[in-house]
Amino acid sequence: MTHSLVKVLKFGGSSVGSAESLARVTTIIRGEAASCQPVVIVSALSGVTDLLVTLTNSNDPEVVIAQLARRHIELSETVLDSRRRYTYLRTIGGIMDGLRDRCHLPDDGHRTAAILATGELLSAPLVAALLTQEGVVAQAIDARKLVLTDHQGVVRDQTKLQISNWYSDLSRFVVPIVTGFVGSDKDGNTTILGRGGSDYSASLFAEAVGAAKMDRWTDVDGLYTADPNKVKGAGKFLYLLLEDATSWNEASALGMHTEAFLPVLEACIPVHVRSTRFPQGDGTLILPRLLPGRIERDSRRQLAHFNHTTSSSSISDARLKEVQP
Ligand code: ASP
Ligand code: MG
Repeated sequence: MTHSLVKVLKFGGSSVGSAESLARVTTIIRGEAASCQPVVIVSALSGVTDLLVTLTNSNDPEVVIAQLARRHIELSETVLDSRRRYTYLRTIGGIMDGLRDRCHLPDDGHRTAAILATGELLSAPLVAALLTQEGVVAQAIDARKLVLTDHQGVVRDQTKLQISNWYSDLSRFVVPIVTGFVGSDKDGNTTILGRGGSDYSASLFAEAVGAAKMDRWTDVDGLYTADPNKVKGAGKFLYLLLEDATSWNEASALGMHTEAFLPVLEACIPVHVRSTRFPQGDGTLILPRLLPGRIERDSRRQLAHFNHTTSSSSISDARLKEVQP
C-alpha cells in the first residue's frame, strides 16, 4: 500500500553508528513506512566525518583509509547477510579506490569536500541494504545529483526543482535513503554543505517534496536549554516556535547547521526532534507560527478536489466519514 502523506526522517551519525542503533532505525522506518511515505536522510556513521577531517591532512592516508574501511566492513558483517554484504563490500571498495586517488592528487580546491563527502556515501548504501534485507524495500540515493551549490552555498531554486523532479519519478514502493551533507557544483565537483549539514539537507528535501513533517532523529529526546549530558537540570522544550528556533539557530544557540531551519520555515513544515533511544518520548515539537494557515489552505484544496472528483457539490458529515481510509 502507498500513502500520500510524505514525511522526511533524518538520522544523525549516532543513530546509524552501531548495530544496535541501526536496529532501532530499521524499526522506526518500518513503522513509518506503514503509515506514510518516508524520505530518509542519513549522516555518516558517528565519528566518520571527524576521521575524514584527519585524512585531509594526514601524511599517512593509507592508515586512515584502512581504519575507515574496517569500521564499515565490521558493521556490515554484524548487520548484513552474506549476499548483501558482498554487494556492500564492493561499494566500499569502489569508494575507497576513489578516496585513495583523491588523497594522492594535489589539491585542486575540491579535494577536502570530496574526501569529507565519503562518510555519507558509505552510510546510505549500508542503511538501504539493511532495510531491504528486513523487508522494507529501500534505495540509496546520492544527493550530489540533486543538491546544487555555488560559492555562496546551496542554489535553492534549482535544488528544489531537481529534488521535486526526482521525487515525482520515484516509485512509491521504495524508501529513498538519501546522503545528507553532500551536493555538487555546476561542473559536477563534489561539495559539502558545512559541518552538521545533514539537517540542512533534510530541510531542503522536506521543502522540495512537500513533506507534512520532518522528524529529526538523534540520541537526545528533544532540544534542551543546555546539553543535558553535561549540565544537570537543563530544561527541555516540549514546544518551540519554528520562527524562534530558526533565529536562535542562526545565532548558533542550538548547535545545528545555521541554515538548517530555513527551508522548512519557508515551506511551513513542522519539525519534531526525537530520540531513537526513546522513540515513545515527546521530543520537541517545533511548529511554524503560520501552520494554521497552511492547514486551512491544504484542507480547502483537498475539499475542492473531493468535490470535483465526486459529483456532489456539498459534503455532509456522513460523506466525510465514508471517505476515511
Ligand atoms: N557527517 C557530517 C558532519 O558530521 C554531516 C552531519 O552529520 O550532519 O558534519
Ligand atoms: Mg555527523
